[in-house]
Amino acid sequence: MPATQPANPAAALSSAFAEGKYALPELPYAKNALEPLYDAQTLELHHDKHHAGYVKGLNTALEKLAAARKSGDYAAIKALSRDLAFHGSGHVLHCLFWLSMTPGGSKPQADLAAKFVHCFGGFEPMAAQFAAATEAVEGSGWGVLAYEPVADCLQILQCEKHQDLTIWGVTPLLVCDVWEHAYYLKYQNRRADWIAAFMKLANWDFASQRYALIKK
Ligand code: MN
Repeated sequence: MPATQPANPAAALSSAFAEGKYALPELPYAKNALEPLYDAQTLELHHDKHHAGYVKGLNTALEKLAAARKSGDYAAIKALSRDLAFHGSGHVLHCLFWLSMTPGGSKPQADLAAKFVHCFGGFEPMAAQFAAATEAVEGSGWGVLAYEPVADCLQILQCEKHQDLTIWGVTPLLVCDVWEHAYYLKYQNRRADWIAAFMKLANWDFASQRYALIKK
């Protein structure tokens, strides 16, 4: 286990998926390296038990989804999609969480520091908003500093329940709106008909362009 954070955090994340399965990543520091601010016992339980549980649940959900695709039996799709979101978000967010701390802390690089000025008026107001938003999360959840690509700006978000049907960290490639306003005038309660129509309209070339951007 390396004693200090690796120069390339993405490299540390690479151990979070190995040989076709999600895996518990190695910590980028020793378990007592964040003492006394974050104690070794909490860190060990958090990483070795809680995070490991997400990894196991995520792989199980994916195995069951693969079986459903094979059999064509989607009777359990709602539960499986929820399991995928709950364990997938748990895994991704914990991977980011371990890398979001480093012994002694560190300072933002110039580009990010400039973005803090542009989006929040500086580092201090950003940090104050981050702490306030995170403290005000109702029940379980996360404080998240995120990049919002439409405005090319940063936002601080509360993630109240990470199981709410997304995997935090994913980038959408193609979306279908099933709020009633999207289809009710023409399709009324026949949501499946609207989805069938959408699938005929789907712009996979756009999805391909999005995918190419991400892979850069
Ligand atoms: Mn946790």
